[in-house]
Amino acid sequence: MSEAAIREIVIVGGGTAGWMAAAGIARLAGALPGVSITLVESDAIGTVGVGEATIPQITLFNTLLGIDEAEFVRATRATYKLGIEFVDWTRIGHRYVHPFGLYGIDMAGVEFHHHWLRGVALGDAAPLDAYSLAVVGGLDGRFAHPRPDQPNSPLAKLAYAFQFDAGLYAGFLRTRAEGWGVVRREGRITQVHRDGGSGHVASVELADGTVIAGDLFVDCSGFRGLLIEETMGAGFEDWTDWLPCDRAWAVPCELGGDRQPLTRSTARPAGWQWRIPLQHRIGNGYVYSSAHVSDDEAAALLLAHLDGRPIADPKPLRFTAGHRRRAWVGNVVALGLAGGFLEPLESTSIHLVQSGIARLMALFPDRGFDPLLADRFNAETEREYRDIRDFLVLHYKATERDDSPFWDYCRTLPPPPGLAEKLAMFAANGRIHREHNELFTETSWLSVMIGQGVMPRRHHPIADTLPPAELLHRLGHIRSVVADTARAMPRQDDYLRQIGCDL
Ligand code: FAD
Repeated sequence: MSEAAIREIVIVGGGTAGWMAAAGIARLAGALPGVSITLVESDAIGTVGVGEATIPQITLFNTLLGIDEAEFVRATRATYKLGIEFVDWTRIGHRYVHPFGLYGIDMAGVEFHHHWLRGVALGDAAPLDAYSLAVVGGLDGRFAHPRPDQPNSPLAKLAYAFQFDAGLYAGFLRTRAEGWGVVRREGRITQVHRDGGSGHVASVELADGTVIAGDLFVDCSGFRGLLIEETMGAGFEDWTDWLPCDRAWAVPCELGGDRQPLTRSTARPAGWQWRIPLQHRIGNGYVYSSAHVSDDEAAALLLAHLDGRPIADPKPLRFTAGHRRRAWVGNVVALGLAGGFLEPLESTSIHLVQSGIARLMALFPDRGFDPLLADRFNAETEREYRDIRDFLVLHYKATERDDSPFWDYCRTLPPPPGLAEKLAMFAANGRIHREHNELFTETSWLSVMIGQGVMPRRHHPIADTLPPAELLHRLGHIRSVVADTARAMPRQDDYLRQIGCDL
């Protein structure tokens, strides 16, 4: 183990991952005496240019950076997001929402959904969606901030995220990172030099011959993994069998009408289409399996299903589901697409960057590179990817769709073991089993399992303690409180104007 202190941190790449890392590390480690941070990016290579939908954890990252939310929303032309609307996933013509925040209220000692299940058994036909403020308000184009100071209101347990312009977000973070002392170097890295003894990366060399030396290298170079894979040979765990989508077309279009505070995912014959409304446009894309549809057919399908006129040519993207076997090798730590990729069905990639930064900071190699730190980083990263993978596979597995070879493949695929156990337990008795500190909550698992037709055979016996008439009355009351609260929320467009957005 080398005992030298970490002085020079070099971030390779200036996409969303690179600038998030620069801002996050500068905010936390930049205060360490003698530490300098350099970010290298190549305008000629550019960035992946997509990645616009997020999950609520991003608000923690913004808080860490001391970002003023209204300024952030204006600068990145962001909209608020209360969840994801899934259309045609269960069967064609069906829709449900995976909301942020909770369903219902705490009732009689057991999770709300057991009471709802009992209500269904007693003949109450109201869907679970009717108990979520995020769903009812979101589908009506409304948004409000959570009000933890109003514990009796459904607003108390609302949660939200953002949908933003990826390019503007990177620029916004760049301004902050540079303000905190990060030095940006423009140029294409053509060579990577390694230390003959340790095998660590010693420096990167740009096309013009400039050499940038460092102690710790953060690889944010995108899918290719310039340092982590091409130099350090980390290896890649390929999950194509479970997640067969391997390509996407992305195209922005004009926006018409209100902006819903929801990302929409519509299942298509060989994958799914995203729709992300921003202040000034809609981001769209078709994520598909190249084994089941040609690129031309996929592009044509996407262009035929836009809500407005396209404002750019469709952009093709190729990827493989999976992650680096080791995200930290020697003195190289990979974040973002350099570390792995899981399709954006649940908007998790930007979160993975954020959690990678947090993990790197928690395990920051203050003196040398103790392999224990890298081993822990890699184990936790692997577990996080695997948890998200299982949640994504759930969407493909729990479906009635049998209208194309793609859906036949997904529906009949044996699920990964962790998912198989979760599905079996939920179907048997409505219990949601989460291991360790998984990213996705009970609400998330519940919304997708119920939304996609996995109905438990039994509810928890504690839900039987309320007299039937009282239970049905209470359920009806919760629904009306949710509906009234949603109606009182401002329309998202009005809310954005109130904070100075120019719509
Ligand atoms: P990139 O944007 O590719 O950046 C790589 C950087 O490395 C660039 O600055 C490039 O110039 C630099 N670079 C590379 N090689 C060199 C070199 N030789 N010399 C110098 N510089 C170099 N995430 C979400 O959270 N939500 C979403 O809705 C979402 N949707 C997505 C949809 C699709 C189809 C895809 C493919 C991804 C999506 N993502 C989403 C993921 C998200 O886009 C990425 O996680 C995020 O943009 C981070 O990308 P990155 O910075 O790792 O890579």
